[in-house]
Amino acid sequence: MENIDQLKELLATPKKIAIVSHRNPDGDALGSSLALFHYLSRHRHDATIAFPSAYPTIFNWMPGAEYILNHDLQAKKSDKLIAEADIVFCLDFNALYRIDKLGESIAAREEVTKVLIDHHLEPDTFADYMLWDTTASSTCELVFDFISLMGDKALIDDLIGECILTGILTDTGSFQYSTSAKLFRIVADLKDLGIDDTELHNKIFNSLTIKQLDILGFCLTTALEIIPKYNTGMIVLTREDYKHFRIQRGDTEGIVNYILKVRRLKVAALISERDGFVKLSLRSKGDFSVQEIATTHFGGGGHKNASGGFSKMSLRDTVNKFKDVLPSYKAQLEEPY
Ligand code: 5GP
Ligand code: MN
Repeated sequence: MENIDQLKELLATPKKIAIVSHRNPDGDALGSSLALFHYLSRHRHDATIAFPSAYPTIFNWMPGAEYILNHDLQAKKSDKLIAEADIVFCLDFNALYRIDKLGESIAAREEVTKVLIDHHLEPDTFADYMLWDTTASSTCELVFDFISLMGDKALIDDLIGECILTGILTDTGSFQYSTSAKLFRIVADLKDLGIDDTELHNKIFNSLTIKQLDILGFCLTTALEIIPKYNTGMIVLTREDYKHFRIQRGDTEGIVNYILKVRRLKVAALISERDGFVKLSLRSKGDFSVQEIATTHFGGGGHKNASGGFSKMSLRDTVNKFKDVLPSYKAQLEEPY
């Protein structure tokens, strides 16, 4: 991070601080926001978190989650937060348009100090201070780095540590990908704080409802289509499926990853019909970049092995477009993983 001393000086006296993250916040968005919130609060800053939309209820247990503003339901409060902030921290996303109305409120405040902490590919240049590293496992890992850079590593206690470890666990799929020696050193430091990682793991990954298990079953049987020629699998969910299973925020979290459990398969897609658009969740194994597909064809982005995008076409046309895109990656996809 450049000009870190300048930012340190700014943070030396209490400030009004807004912490924002992306729509459909995941474990990394929540973990990084809450870790930073607790850290800044220790320094007597008046910090508040706002997300564009609600977070999945499985994260209700996270300390401080109950104070998070949801722009979808609390637009006035959220916009007021941005309007009155001295500093805005943008976590786990790389461009203001990604956070809808919240992003518009931030863009309208040209003079406000903006800090970006993120690990997604190709960030916009809207921030005054950037801690940006695409080799980082998660934004949580970077929040650990940020607190350390501020000279406050000693302030990372088990409460902040649990938040950080949550995002690390969710964004690495429990250390399956984006790992590094540095990450394991950080996790060792967190373990030294006395964090019970097994319990944390159970809270995050072994907390499905029976309804969610039903949805998973449906996705893996009825809604799944394998395209053997391109070693690709996709799950397609219609609006009727959403209605029938009463699918809510977070209910489909992680389902796309099941496709990649199949030997040889290289690319996985969850294509779901929402109100007014179709959402694509893309995953890959190995060197194949789904970020390339998301960026080039579906107005999205993300990481090499985990990206997302959307389409304004009908569900059927979107599915066909996805299938039509695969042959252009023939050489890479015909080779199984
Ligand atoms: P998910 O499939 O879990 O929604 O998202 C996977 C990754 O892709 C996340 O890192 C997320 O930030 C990114 N992503 C998902 N949807 C979009 C999108 O519409 N645009 C961009 N730029 N990134 C996305
Ligand atoms: Mn992340």
